[in-house]
Amino acid sequence: SIPVLTIDGPGGAGKGTISGLIAERLGWHLLDSGALYRLTAQAAVKHGVALDDEAALEALAARLDIAFPVEQGAARTLLEGEDVTRLIRTEQAGERASRVASLPGVRQSLLDRQRDFCKAPGLVADGRDMGTVVFPEAPLKIFLTASAEERARRRYQQLQAAGVDASLSSLLKEIQARDARDTQRSVAPLKPADDAITLDTTRLSIPEVVDRLIQLLAQ
Ligand code: C5P
Repeated sequence: SIPVLTIDGPGGAGKGTISGLIAERLGWHLLDSGALYRLTAQAAVKHGVALDDEAALEALAARLDIAFPVEQGAARTLLEGEDVTRLIRTEQAGERASRVASLPGVRQSLLDRQRDFCKAPGLVADGRDMGTVVFPEAPLKIFLTASAEERARRRYQQLQAAGVDASLSSLLKEIQARDARDTQRSVAPLKPADDAITLDTTRLSIPEVVDRLIQLLAQ
């Protein structure tokens, strides 16, 4: 069977960066499952669908027209042919994603699409429920965490580097609100799988985390 490495955890713990680096190092496919929820929310906004209309959102998620082309080493995200790479990365897009992600019908609609990413030689799956729901048979499951303060600080630095104005205290509030929604929802709440290894990255650098995970995979 095709090996899957699941990397779950709260927003801002470094899952995206770490997953990308590991997939690149191993030559494995990458699933950014959060992007699917962000794209579903974006499609809803685009088509005037209310973010609590579960039946309509479920249908929208099931026929989502998306693509992830890579050109000159840069990965882009297309929704119905339109480049939404930056649009789906805003805090507002994350907040909307977390709202549609709390609807069981939407999660069900995206299940097969996520499993389709599992192709040889292997898959790194980044999300909230990769180890608990989508790939329960994965041989290695990682739960990446970091303190909320550290996650807000990282996000702040990313935004500053991108030339975007931000406030550390409002970022911290947003992170705490999203954590609360993700851990308290009734369907697929954010929690480590029973057989997951939890790694707190608060005091670890990106290369340290990557090395640690490569070591674990080799065991
Ligand atoms: O990881 P990212 O910030 O892109 O995810 C956006 C939102 O999508 C999360 O806050 C979460 O509510 C939802 N999500 C989810 N399950 C996943 C990935 C993301 O519920 N596997």
